[in-house]
Amino acid sequence: MSGPTIDSVVTFPAGSLTESAVVQLVARADGELGVVTDRTPFHPLDPTWPDQGPDLGTIGVDGRSAAVLDCRVGAWDGTDLFVGSAVPVRRGEPGWTFVVVHVLAAGPLEVASGDEVTLTVDEQHRAALSAGHTGCHLAALALNAALAGRWRKQPRVDSLGHPDFDQSAITSSRIEPFGSVDEYRLGRSLRRSGFDAAGLADDLPALTETVTATLDRWAAAAGEVRVEVAGPGLADRREWVCLLPDGPARIPCGGTHVRSTADVAPIRVHLTLDESGSQLTMHTEVGSPIR
Ligand SMILES: [Zn+2]
Repeated sequence: MSGPTIDSVVTFPAGSLTESAVVQLVARADGELGVVTDRTPFHPLDPTWPDQGPDLGTIGVDGRSAAVLDCRVGAWDGTDLFVGSAVPVRRGEPGWTFVVVHVLAAGPLEVASGDEVTLTVDEQHRAALSAGHTGCHLAALALNAALAGRWRKQPRVDSLGHPDFDQSAITSSRIEPFGSVDEYRLGRSLRRSGFDAAGLADDLPALTETVTATLDRWAAAAGEVRVEVAGPGLADRREWVCLLPDGPARIPCGGTHVRSTADVAPIRVHLTLDESGSQLTMHTEVGSPIR
C-alpha cells in the first residue's frame, strides 16, 4: 500500500478552516474510515498531551460529503498506519511520517487514494476551543505571576520572567468550549523545588482577585495572539505567542487560538484546593463575541 512520504501539511496554526487536498491513504477499521490527506485545516487530538480536543467538520468529494467524527494523530511507517495512543514512536523518528487522520463512519462516502477532497472545519466549534485555549494560557501566566512570592528558591521561569508554577506543577489540562480546567499537584517534589503552599487555602480569594486583575489588564490591552511554526508539517514545533504589555509571552503549543486577548474578555478563574491541600484546580471561563 502506498502512502504519505512527508508529514501532513497543517494549516490550523494560522487559523485556516477549509482546504482542498488529495487523499493519500484510507485505512478501514471497526466500521470507521481513517482518511489521510496531503494537507488539512483539521486540528487532531494529540495523544501525548491531549489538552485540546479534535476539530469536527466535513469531508467532501464529487459534490457529496460526510461528517468528520473525530480527528487523530497518526504515524505511518511505509506499511502500517498507527493511530492515536497506538503510535509507537516520537515525532521526528527517522522513517516515520506523522499525519492527521480524519475519522468518518464507513459507508456513506466512498473515498480512495488520489481523490481530490474538500476539508471543512466546523467554525463555531473551532472558535469555542480556540477561545478556551487562549484563555487557558493567559490564566496560567497570570497564576504564575500571582504565586511568584511563594517561591523560596528560584525555579525555572516563564517567558514573562515569573517562576513557572504552571509548568512545574501541572498534571493535566483540558480545553473546553470557552474555557479550560487545569489540575496542579502540590506534592513533595514541588515543595522540594522551593514552592511554599502554606496557608494557600485561606489565600485563594486574594489570589483569585490578583489573577483576575492581571487578566483584565491583559484583555484590555488587546494584545496580538498568534501561533508560530518551525515548519508546515504536523510534527514541526509550534509555539503560542502573545504580545502582552508585560512583554512577549511564549508557550510551546500544538493547539488553535483567537487573534487577540480582547477576543476572550472577560476571563474569569475559579480556584479550588482539595481537602488534603495537595491538588489545586483552576477553572477558567472566557467571554466571546460569538457566544
Ligand atoms: Zn496550548
